[in-house]
Amino acid sequence: METVYRMTPKRRFLAGILGGRVDQAPVGSVTSVVNVEQMEATGAFFPDAHLAGRAMAQLAAGAHTILGYDAILPYASVSAEAAALGCAMDWGDRENMRVSLAPIWSDPEQVEIPADFSERAPIRAILDATRILRAQYGDRVAIVGKVMGPWTLAYHLHGIQDFLSETLTDPERVRRFLDALQEITVLFGRAQIEAGADLLCVADHATGDLISAAMYREFLLPHHQQITQRLGCPTVLHICGNTLDRLDDICHSGFDCFHFDSRVDAKDATERVAGRISLMGNVNNPEVLLHGTPDEVLAQARYAQQAGVRVIGPECAIPLATPTANLRAIARVAAEPLPAAGG
Ligand SMILES: [Zn+2]
Repeated sequence: METVYRMTPKRRFLAGILGGRVDQAPVGSVTSVVNVEQMEATGAFFPDAHLAGRAMAQLAAGAHTILGYDAILPYASVSAEAAALGCAMDWGDRENMRVSLAPIWSDPEQVEIPADFSERAPIRAILDATRILRAQYGDRVAIVGKVMGPWTLAYHLHGIQDFLSETLTDPERVRRFLDALQEITVLFGRAQIEAGADLLCVADHATGDLISAAMYREFLLPHHQQITQRLGCPTVLHICGNTLDRLDDICHSGFDCFHFDSRVDAKDATERVAGRISLMGNVNNPEVLLHGTPDEVLAQARYAQQAGVRVIGPECAIPLATPTANLRAIARVAAEPLPAAGG
C-alpha cells in the first residue's frame, strides 16, 4: 500500500541537505531571496531590515509565506560581521543591497573579536530575528543561519587585493589570517544555532574567477574541514562563480551540501560529486530569474531537479528587482515527479 504523508517544510529541507528521503523536491535558499515586492508586501524595508531584528524577521518570513519555500533566512546581506567589527558601511537602500567596506586589519595579529560582538547592531539584529522566526515558524519551517567564512572575511577585513597577492608572496601570513578569522565564523555560527537556526550556510567566496582549485585545496580546504567539525550542525557551503574544478575537493570539506552557481551545469555537478555531498541551487539569477518568464524559471528548476540537485533555488543572493512571480515559479518544481534515485 502506498504511504501518503506530508513532510513539514523543515523536515523536507533538512532531508534534502542531508541526502535523505523527501516527499517532494525541497525548495529554498541559503542566500538572500528578498526582493522589492516582498518588502512592499511585508512592510519591512532595507536598509532598516539589516539592523533591526523585528523588521528583518518580518521580511525574511516572506520566503515561506509569499514564495512558498521550505526555509527562511534572516541574514540577507554579506556584511554583518565586517560592519560589527568596525568596517565603514553603506547599507544601501530598498533597491540596492550595497557592500561598501573599507578594510581595517593589515596584519593577522590585529584580528580581535570584541567582547560585545554579539551585542553590536548588525549581529544582534540577526540573532534577534532568528529567535523571533524560531518562535513563529520553527516547528514547521527550516530556519537558516549564515556566516561568512574566513576567506570572505579576509576580503572584507583585510582587503581583497592585498589578500590575493599575499597568497603568492606570503602564504604563511595568509594562513595566519585564516586561522584568526575562522574564530569569527565559528563564534557567530554557534550563536545563530543557539538562537534557533536549524542549519548554517558558510559563504566563502573562493570562486574560480579569483583563485585556482589548487589554492582552494592548499589554503582553504583544511579550514573548511575544521569549521564543519567545530560547528557540528548541518552545514551548507556557498561559493558562487565557476567551481567545477574544485568540486572534488569540496566533497572532502565536511559540508553536508554545496550551494552552487548556474555557471556549473547541474548534470556536470551531480556527476562530479557522485552523491558524496548534496547539491543546492542552481537557477540562474541575472538572465532567468531577473529577466526570464515563470515558465523559463520552472524549466531550469526542473532541469536541476532531474539532474539530481537535491534542493532547488536561486544560485546566489537574488537581485532586489527580481519578480516575485519568477521566484514562486521555482516552488512549482515541488509538484513535479522526483527523479528515480536521489543523488
Ligand atoms: Zn554567491
